[in-house]
Amino acid sequence: MKIQTCLFCIALAALVRPSALAQTNQYPFRDPSLPLETRAEDLLSRLTLEEKISIIHADSKFTTAAIPRLGIPRRWMSDGPHGVREDVGPDTWQAAGHTDDFSTAMPAGICLAATWNPDLGFSECEAIGQEARERGKDIMLGPGVNILRTPLCGRNFEYLGEDPFLSSRMAVGYIRGAQSQDISSCVKHFALNNQEFQRGSINVDVDERTLHEIYLPAFKAAVQEAGVWSVMGSYNQFRGQHCCENDYLLNKVLKDEWGFKGLVMSDWAGVHDTREAVLNGLDLEMGTERNYNDFYLAQPYLDGLKSGAFTPAGLDDKVRRNLRVMIATHVLDADRKPGSLNTAAHETVARRVAEEGIVLLKNENHALPLDAKTIKTIAVIGENATRLHAHGGDSSGIKAFYEITPLQGILSRAGKTMNVIYSEGYQRNGGADLADRAIAAAKAADAVIYIGGLNHDKGFDCEGADRTSLKLPYGQDGLIQRIVAANPKTIVVLEGTMVEMDSWLGQVPAVLQAWYPGMEAGNALARVLFGDVNPSGKLPATFPKRLEDSPAHALGNYPGTNGTVTYAEGLLVGYRWFEAKKIEPLFPFGFGLSYTTFEYSNLKLVPGDAGVTAEFEIKNAGAVAGAEVAQLYIHPENPTVTRPEKELKGFKKVFLKAGETQTVSIPLIRSAFAFYDPDKKGWVAEKGGFKILVGGSSRDIALRSNYSLAETIFEKD
Ligand code: BGC
Repeated sequence: MKIQTCLFCIALAALVRPSALAQTNQYPFRDPSLPLETRAEDLLSRLTLEEKISIIHADSKFTTAAIPRLGIPRRWMSDGPHGVREDVGPDTWQAAGHTDDFSTAMPAGICLAATWNPDLGFSECEAIGQEARERGKDIMLGPGVNILRTPLCGRNFEYLGEDPFLSSRMAVGYIRGAQSQDISSCVKHFALNNQEFQRGSINVDVDERTLHEIYLPAFKAAVQEAGVWSVMGSYNQFRGQHCCENDYLLNKVLKDEWGFKGLVMSDWAGVHDTREAVLNGLDLEMGTERNYNDFYLAQPYLDGLKSGAFTPAGLDDKVRRNLRVMIATHVLDADRKPGSLNTAAHETVARRVAEEGIVLLKNENHALPLDAKTIKTIAVIGENATRLHAHGGDSSGIKAFYEITPLQGILSRAGKTMNVIYSEGYQRNGGADLADRAIAAAKAADAVIYIGGLNHDKGFDCEGADRTSLKLPYGQDGLIQRIVAANPKTIVVLEGTMVEMDSWLGQVPAVLQAWYPGMEAGNALARVLFGDVNPSGKLPATFPKRLEDSPAHALGNYPGTNGTVTYAEGLLVGYRWFEAKKIEPLFPFGFGLSYTTFEYSNLKLVPGDAGVTAEFEIKNAGAVAGAEVAQLYIHPENPTVTRPEKELKGFKKVFLKAGETQTVSIPLIRSAFAFYDPDKKGWVAEKGGFKILVGGSSRDIALRSNYSLAETIFEKD
């Protein structure tokens, strides 16, 4: 029998008699008081072979089929991760043209990571979960947690930076937020999707220890700590097998070793073979471009089941995983949490993430905050001052309810007391007169706010391709030099991911890294510029001076040769590389200034049953309130294996009034000291000495202490 198409299902739904549906209400799978597994088994036992198949593949771009006979609704997925995406047509990437598919556009993932505030991650995604519910979605396709291996990856803006510990903490907060609203998160892209170049085919070669220490921890934390219900396989290959049908990653690591009980879905059209998909751990095939009946997990799988090529137990395992997710997120229950869209609270959280994620990179002679009382005329220059970003970047784009541009934010914050002039300065295909006009505007003003950087055009921060250079586009380097020569009071604000700044950094007094700050962008930025908000963001990735300084490029291991990219830098990703090779970065991992200063003191190590707690004091030694992200790194003294010089193992964001001192505690369980041993397939915390390093960035260590593990401990993965 052919599998039902969605239209057929809809027609069927209309035909199902109310009395038949009433009967399904008596079935145990509908009883919320029963354990999840009991409900899942009951529902599984009632499904026909064809119904089971219908649950494990798409019946439109973002849905799987309903089963009207049992009152099982259609299941809706949506991108992710910055809000609920605009609806597309059932079989096309074109917008559906709906008028009710706006949502709150949150700042991009890298901005969230720069807040170093997992509680804010929870709040952001709690709001996204509520909006997903209101928009009728069941699974939100995020967070994206692929590690920033090269600054050029086109999707770095969606992800959570270069460090496995930071990205794990942020991912856990985010997922818990969404799932608290009866929505399943879907952590992606599992695994090693660290470049967009040849993303559908590139084969990643990475050693086992690096895989476990750098590229998998955020996924593992998502599964084991956040209890994520869905995982999306990635497009690329690992050891010659596509990741959506990768036996090692899906069956062995994710399901056997980590005990994942939810569903693994494919990235869209990321499946290549029925047998591999069936046997190697895929539970749900999503995608496009083909008749849904021809999907690898549709008719071909059904044929294989009927011919005996595949076992019913294998199918049941996949279906059971899908049903668990439905039941856990209360899809079948009357009291599923209600949703809401773009509430005041959602707008506030969008603004707060932006405010806490913006990073102050340079601030000579207190150039910032700007004094609204003394400035008569301010020139805002740069195309990003007026450009909308929320809709861009491809699958992560959002049809925002509104988007406050930087210029609008500055105007509404300062336009009443000062004269705000605007000059574009550059354009994608712009001519020289734009620059000349901008220089004239700079000369006519008391101060300049330059707002440039990158955007979501293909080839910059956008899915499907990587950047080709670390340099600013559109001649911005030269433009900034001319502007600052015309007016030395030039504040540079960069949107987008990291860029080279060497050619002008020495000349400008202040730089803010604003990423993509979502629909409250302009308000958040203006509040930081004029000092209503004290910046507290810290870099979630090292900014290199030049591309060649970063590991993948220094070693020539990007974008790979003959279809394979070898991660020859191994563990030395991001700051681990810059530390080991003693390369001065432009700005180090964890770096970010404030309008106040913080003093660290009195580090004590307090032993406990599970490990040790680092206790220390932080004082806000300046005149304004502010927040500091205290970071804790470990340095193994004499390890028997090569280990990075420093590894982030704890952090805490502390909010302090002017003059206030707080005691901060950062617990370190013993396994925090461990490295992954591929032979033993587990984590070894070796006895011996460690330095505990505490400070305001990976290169600004204020406090040090020695710690010794008395005996070696081992934990299975
Ligand atoms: C992206 C995913 C996204 C999916 C659905 C794919 O191209 O890689 O991140 O969730 O499309 O839009």
